[in-house]
Amino acid sequence: MSDWHWARAAEGVPHSGPRPFGWQEDRITLHPDEANLVEQAISDRIAGKAVRGIAADWCDLGVTGTRGGRPNAQTVTQIITAPRVCGYRANRGELLLIPETGQPVHGQWEPIVMPERWHAVCATFSPGSLYLHRGSGAPRRTGQKRPTPRYLATGFLRCGALRPDGTMCRGALCAQKGRSRKSPYVYSCRSCGRCSISGPLADEALEQLVFSEAQGLAKLPPLMRDRWRSGEMELEEKRKVVASVVTRCIVRPGVKGAASWDHSRVEPLPEHPGRAGWRYAEPTGP
Ligand SMILES: [Zn+2]
Repeated sequence: MSDWHWARAAEGVPHSGPRPFGWQEDRITLHPDEANLVEQAISDRIAGKAVRGIAADWCDLGVTGTRGGRPNAQTVTQIITAPRVCGYRANRGELLLIPETGQPVHGQWEPIVMPERWHAVCATFSPGSLYLHRGSGAPRRTGQKRPTPRYLATGFLRCGALRPDGTMCRGALCAQKGRSRKSPYVYSCRSCGRCSISGPLADEALEQLVFSEAQGLAKLPPLMRDRWRSGEMELEEKRKVVASVVTRCIVRPGVKGAASWDHSRVEPLPEHPGRAGWRYAEPTGP
């Protein structure tokens, strides 16, 4: 994402392109007829209606998309699961979150529904068909070689936010560009969008876990620790060290307005009772 794009996105300014279905050309004011359709579709979907049936209703009403296409199940799904329907800002398929708090960035446009309704309608779909997964209708990128992770904690972090039903999300936190000098990148949950953590904070916390708390439990060779701390160790090797110590870590959502970095938000995920997520749980004490 270019800096220009990012700055606009972070400010919640609508970006260019065809106007989104439900809003007028200014992209801020609701298009009354379309907004009503979207609101009704969200209600119908939450009540259990097949999205194909909603698309058929729209076709019967003569509705066309803002690019002139006929509505189908996929386009209706993209429209009603787009974060913008509740005022949340996303860019390139990623919900924008304030790194320090994990709270979504709000756009300047008029929302169609409350965030709870958007969460509820998203929950009626499998994650793979959601706007946040597929983007605004652009073809899915498949068959691409996985890029080498550029950050220490990539792949190790899981979302600790609670879903409306009280279960933990556990979605993978993915690195994305951050908004501040202190947090040039952040890790954010792409499943629920409710958890985000400053990238440097999470990497520091992970390093602390590996070397401080794990020390008594996991017996990392001192030589390894020295090489890491001297800066000789490449990222790839550091990631192997992490993988040898912890399997996954849960990241608790940040507290709004928290002034200082809270390293304790990152903790090993208990996968087996009593093992607390440590790969080598070898107590050294009696
Ligand atoms: Zn999540």
